[in-house]
Amino acid sequence: EAALKRQAVVASLRPFITPTQDTAREAAQRAHCRYEEGKLVGALDGIPVAIKDNFCTQGILTTCGSNMLRHYIPPYSATVVERLLGAGAVLVGKTNLDEFGMGSGTIDSSFGQSRNIYRSGIEYELTGTEEKYPTSGLEHDDWVVTGGSSGGSALSVATGTAFVALGSDTGGSVRNPSSYCGVVGFKPSYGLVPRWGLVSLVNSMDVPGLFGRHVDDVATLLSVVAGQDPMDSTSVWSDFKTLQLPPVPSLEGVVVGVPREYHQPGTSGEVVEAWTKVADLMEDAGAKVREVSMPHTELSIICYAILNTCEVASNFTRYTGVGYGHRETVGQSMEALYALTRRAGLNEVVRGRVLAGNYFLLKENRKKYFEQALKVRRLIWQDFQEVWRSGVSLLLTPTTLTPAHRHSTFSLLDNRTQTAKQDVCTQSANMAGVGAVSVPVGMNGDGLPLALQLMAPWGQDAALLAAAKWIE
Ligand code: GLN
Repeated sequence: EAALKRQAVVASLRPFITPTQDTAREAAQRAHCRYEEGKLVGALDGIPVAIKDNFCTQGILTTCGSNMLRHYIPPYSATVVERLLGAGAVLVGKTNLDEFGMGSGTIDSSFGQSRNIYRSGIEYELTGTEEKYPTSGLEHDDWVVTGGSSGGSALSVATGTAFVALGSDTGGSVRNPSSYCGVVGFKPSYGLVPRWGLVSLVNSMDVPGLFGRHVDDVATLLSVVAGQDPMDSTSVWSDFKTLQLPPVPSLEGVVVGVPREYHQPGTSGEVVEAWTKVADLMEDAGAKVREVSMPHTELSIICYAILNTCEVASNFTRYTGVGYGHRETVGQSMEALYALTRRAGLNEVVRGRVLAGNYFLLKENRKKYFEQALKVRRLIWQDFQEVWRSGVSLLLTPTTLTPAHRHSTFSLLDNRTQTAKQDVCTQSANMAGVGAVSVPVGMNGDGLPLALQLMAPWGQDAALLAAAKWIE
């Protein structure tokens, strides 16, 4: 009830596209009965969770933030959704996102823009028994963005409308909004958490990602959703079922690499300060901290831009208006039906990426762009391999270059520029497939959250989360 009450209080910030209060109440009731009978079904029994609206939920709208799927109700649930519900979780709503996950602000959704809780004028104590509710609406016209594309999920956790949430991370879409909203955002190693039922954006980079207020909550969530799935051939066997982070994690023997190339122009002084301070604290706690080089980092944005759009071009052939989703009524030809349906159903960002991807894949361009980008991706992956081989067990970097932007400045940038600026520290991890987590590390003078990112070798997600817990 407290979570649902908060949902009403923060509704104007738009964390949700489809709130599910009624089913949540019923599910909570059932969980309560199980609790009374001492028969809890799993680690999340009775826990309010929010799910990004690009995960299929059987019988519940799944829009991907797009007009194309405005009325789409899937006949099945994503594996991760099944696993959450199977562990007793109570779904409180499907969260807002940039259309199909393309963006870094949650301002490119066909269901309205999400606004950050920070500097929103809405204030209440999340932990106290007495909750303060606002008397008026938003204080500032010039609100602060949540980041994206999983901004609704980050916001749902930041506002206490959900205790944990699912997002998806293709180039930073979990870590970026978690950094802006002051919550923990974790992108597991590629393959550990199955993608079946997560609407595809870039199959080779998409990872279901996890939000929580604390690292321990995220670890519990991982223990529920990880594990091989016969429906996803890229998922792998793993054993996180009994994952428990040490109560007091130790940094003894940990070698932390600080990559030189992540000192990007445009990084704010307060982010650099937090980065240096945490590196020093880790050293004081027994870690070895050393500077490392990852020379291909600067190519990650352009490489991502090509590979992303190529896979998008391929994936979006499914939106024809024939099988499911929006359909324009036209008589003349199949081609006209496709064209008009896409024009009406997909926003400019999505259509732009489909066009770009098809251009890069043209017979005469394929070698020059697509194949070249695949080679560059391999070099980015090799940068990580070499760093691990040199004995480094963790990388420490900023998550985003600055704290959350004001909407007025952010919206002046077009989608590609937003991505280029915001994702420079996060995209390499997707291209290399390694686990990465964003941890809040305090506030700046303006009362906005600051965050840092940790990355670890593929599969070392337990160690990664333990170190994140230490920082937290
Ligand atoms: N901002 C990036 C993009 O627009 C990342 C998106 C994501 O991770 N889903 O592609």
